[in-house]
Amino acid sequence: MRPVRFNIHPKEAKLTDSIMVTEAPESYNGEGFMTTRFDRVIGLARKNSIWPLPFATSCCGIEFMATMGSHYDLARFGSERVGFSPRQCDLLMVMGTISKKMAPVLRQVYLQMAEPRWVIAVGACASSGGIFDTYSVLQGIDQVIPVDVYVPGCPPRPEAIIDGVMRIQDLVHNEGLRRRGSEKYQELMNSYGIE
Ligand code: SF4
Repeated sequence: MRPVRFNIHPKEAKLTDSIMVTEAPESYNGEGFMTTRFDRVIGLARKNSIWPLPFATSCCGIEFMATMGSHYDLARFGSERVGFSPRQCDLLMVMGTISKKMAPVLRQVYLQMAEPRWVIAVGACASSGGIFDTYSVLQGIDQVIPVDVYVPGCPPRPEAIIDGVMRIQDLVHNEGLRRRGSEKYQELMNSYGIE
């Protein structure tokens, strides 16, 4: 029989040790008051509550599963709420080989997401077609939808996926509230045939 160990002298945990406090927005502080910019507060809230939509078609999706597991724990970044309803998600994570037949489906999912939305191409296949330089495989999802962050690797380790999510957090945090209505953004969308 395997010996059973009991933790008979548990260490008393301090509540303050186990709570991660997020950073404060850039601000001007004085005695009894704090002023900041509205877009800084919005950026901070959005950054720490990103809801991913995993579009996983092959092996890279397995790495994502590990990323969501207790060891790597994407929940630490406020992203534990993985959704499969595009209308409720704001981060499209594309993981795996995307065939040309699948491309219109991926684009449809992207179009169903509400603004503001962000996209990560996870792994070589999603970023560039990877090793599948063939007639049937899309040579990068940026041929059909705009991509914000590319995560290299075949497959990327969970650490790399987490790094990609953190790069997205940086973008989300610093994005101006008017960016989505700007001419430049409209031009980008028009270049993909999106109105
Ligand atoms: S990049 Fe490599 S690991 Fe990821 S889906 Fe393509 S072949 Fe699989």
